[in-house]
This record gives sequence, C-alpha cells and structure tokens, in this order.
Amino acid sequence: MKKILLFCLDFLLFVFSGILCASERRGALVLTFDDYGGENWVRADAVFKKYDAHATFFVYGNITPEYADVMKKLQDAGHSLGLHTRDHRDAVPLPENIKNLDEYFIQQVKPQLDACAKYGLKVRSFAYPNSRRSPETDAMLFRYFNFLRSGLGKNSSPVYWKLSDLKDRMLLTGKVIGKYYKTDLDEVKKMLDVAAAEDSMILFTSHNIYSNAPSIHMPTEWLEEILRHARKLNMNIVGIDELESLRKKRQ
Ligand SMILES: [Zn+2]
Repeated sequence: MKKILLFCLDFLLFVFSGILCASERRGALVLTFDDYGGENWVRADAVFKKYDAHATFFVYGNITPEYADVMKKLQDAGHSLGLHTRDHRDAVPLPENIKNLDEYFIQQVKPQLDACAKYGLKVRSFAYPNSRRSPETDAMLFRYFNFLRSGLGKNSSPVYWKLSDLKDRMLLTGKVIGKYYKTDLDEVKKMLDVAAAEDSMILFTSHNIYSNAPSIHMPTEWLEEILRHARKLNMNIVGIDELESLRKKRQ
C-alpha cells in the first residue's frame, strides 16, 4: 500500500513539474524552412524532437504523392505546413504571362491548396517567393491564409512580436540563416535572449537542413546550437499553427 502511495506521489510530482515547466516558457522561436528539403526535412525531425521543438515548412512545387508523403510525416510529427507557390514565381511584379492577382492565385497557389485538401494536409500559411509582396497581394492571400511570411533585409533590425499582441491574421517577417547570408550565430542567440526576456516571438528562416550545409541552407550543427540555446532560455519553439494557443494563454 505504502509503495502504491509513493508511486502515486511520484507520478503527481512528475505531472506537476511538467505543467510548471511548460507554463513557465517565455517568448517563442519560430523557425521556417522554404522550398523543399524532402527526406532531409524528415530526418531533421529527430533534432527538433530532442529539444521539444516544432518548425514550419513552406513547400514550393507540384505537390506529388511523394511530396505529400513527406509533408504528412512532418504534420504527424507536430510541425506546421505552409505553401510557397507551384513555380516559385514572384507576386510583385507579376510575371509576364500572369495578368492579375486572381490569375496568380489560380496558377501558383490553388493547385497546391487543392493537392493539400486531397491529401489531408492542413495549411494555414504562405511564404512569399523572394519576399516580393505588396499590401494588395497581402489582402488577396489573407482570403486563404492566416499567416503570410516575408523576409527581412540584411541590415534591417530584427522584429519582435509580443505573444499577447499576436493577431489571427498576420504578416510575419524574419532574418534568413545560412552561410551565404554570413549568419553570426552569436547574434542569433542575442536576439533569442531579447525575445525570451520580453515574452516575444522572433522568426528565422532557411531552406534545406543537413550536416555542414553550405549556401542558403541550415547546417544541422547550427540548428542544434540554436535549439539548445532557445531551450536553455525555456522558450516555446513552435510551428506557426501553434501561435494562436500561445496568445490565448496570455489573455
Ligand atoms: Zn523560396
């Protein structure tokens, strides 16, 4: 009997410390990855899992059964999915063969949305190819998506969003990470320090994920260093679809 009581006490302490730990989390790191990393993205899930972290993956291209399979695996692992157009065509200025924004939607976005509906993939966000956007493109895309993502220029200051001020529909911007962009990981960590201290969200973006990745991609070693720092700060590390619940907890 005594053993059972001790076991119950241990169990309650375990549950309570888990709740306490989760409730104390401050700020949010949102990592997004663009284009298509295929199985490399799926393999990176092991790293995210290690740090109780989720990301958002913005897929560009024709969503074939093979693509859908990768996206389903990511979705089932708790990550958020977004779209990034069928042919990576800029929304501003419109390509020569696309007359207006409605045509852009039909050619570049709708085929991806239809494929996601067919394969049971939930998408609530869209990332602009090459960060080319305008208030008009935002208005058109907000008819279909809750979150739109663009980039921040190399010399722009980082943007922090208070978690309590997040909206149902938002344009989110973030710095790009990769050797091509000469990313300084110490600077990234300092930005995380600010976001955690302010209970704010900060977003970074990259492309494929693999060991020693060059160019515009995220080396797995960098990803691990960033996640380790954010976990040390006890930040939420979430996909875009989880932002709403973070905001609601603060109301
Ligand atoms: Zn892209």
